[in-house]
Amino acid sequence: MDPAARRFGTRAIHAGQRPDPTTGAIMMPIFQTSTYVQDAVGSPRGGYDYARVRNPTRDALQANLAALENGRYGAAFSSGLAATEAIVKTVLNAGDHLICGADVYGGVDRMLRHVWERFGVDFDFVNTGDLDQVRAAIRPETRLIHVETPSNPTMTITDIAACAAIAHEAGAVLSVDNTFATPFLQRPLDDGADVVMHSTTKFLNGHSDMIGGALLTNSGELAEGFHFQQKTSGAIPGPFDCWLVLRGTKTLHLRMPAHCRNAQRVVDVLQGHDEVESVRYPGLESHPQHALARRQMRDFGSMVSFDLGTEERANRFAGLTEVFQLAESLGGVESLVSIPFSMTHASVPDKKKREIGLGPGLVRLSVGVEDADDLAEDIEQALARL
Ligand SMILES: *Cc1c(COP(=O)(O)O)cnc(C)c1O
Repeated sequence: MDPAARRFGTRAIHAGQRPDPTTGAIMMPIFQTSTYVQDAVGSPRGGYDYARVRNPTRDALQANLAALENGRYGAAFSSGLAATEAIVKTVLNAGDHLICGADVYGGVDRMLRHVWERFGVDFDFVNTGDLDQVRAAIRPETRLIHVETPSNPTMTITDIAACAAIAHEAGAVLSVDNTFATPFLQRPLDDGADVVMHSTTKFLNGHSDMIGGALLTNSGELAEGFHFQQKTSGAIPGPFDCWLVLRGTKTLHLRMPAHCRNAQRVVDVLQGHDEVESVRYPGLESHPQHALARRQMRDFGSMVSFDLGTEERANRFAGLTEVFQLAESLGGVESLVSIPFSMTHASVPDKKKREIGLGPGLVRLSVGVEDADDLAEDIEQALARL
């Protein structure tokens, strides 16, 4: 049976891969080559001609990720932002309109304002957690809605099925950044999204040792557009980076439950602590969209934000943790702490940051898979020394 037709954990380990037919090597080889020999002009031996266009290690990764997202097609890129840009370049023309979640990854805001605006793409940032705002932003020129759920770092949940209905009624494409949830917790294509986007840098790789991105879809037309972007714009990942993500996804179904368990433990420490003003985690009943998160996700992930009130206190906290390392990024086996206001979201205008509730006192944790007691103790001692 095709491993892509089996259950999640089996797909994670086997989909897109089979033992190497020439040697029996059980691991997918790293095809570290730029070109492939042709038997005659125009007849490449194995269907491969130049590695910007296709590479077997990349093909394996694309098939693996597509299988995990219940998609038919996958395209891997050199970063999450390169993948996002490939959606824009595939779907939009000058004069078209894009609705973008207000608190998506900070780099998307920078890309739209500093690059795509110059090319005549029109966009509105909207709180996609509020469907009325999404509907109100639709224009005749709207061709793309891009959302992130849970969002970064405010943990807003967007109703994927409802947004897909709104997009399709308007003749637009819905793309969902599934980086925070991963296909283990949430599968947007099943809910009606047209494209799933990932920064594979994060949970899919899971070990903080490469940068990459991917797009997954069931649409042959979109997939053709994404492969055209790989060939034409060239923002493709190298074979070794593809191989590192393939190794990462083999344990995704083991890492994610551990991430979620540890996050819940950390939330238990933060929740109700005297030093903490508020905690944002979709698993909390106090989260305004807890019911939606429960319906849409299998568990609540390992990203946790909490407010310490002031920039000074947030920065001090980030210097006091010992197991949680101060760094950008997320989704690795190791726990990280960051201050979104001045780190990941530094390029987002201050006014907009305040509008979406991203204050200078906000602390973001990426809870790793270390021993839960050590993580809980680390947060407790840092709060005690504030
Ligand atoms: C990191 C991240 C991105 C950008 O991905 P890169 O691989 O850093 O280019 C996009 N979306 C989310 C949610 C991210 O966390």
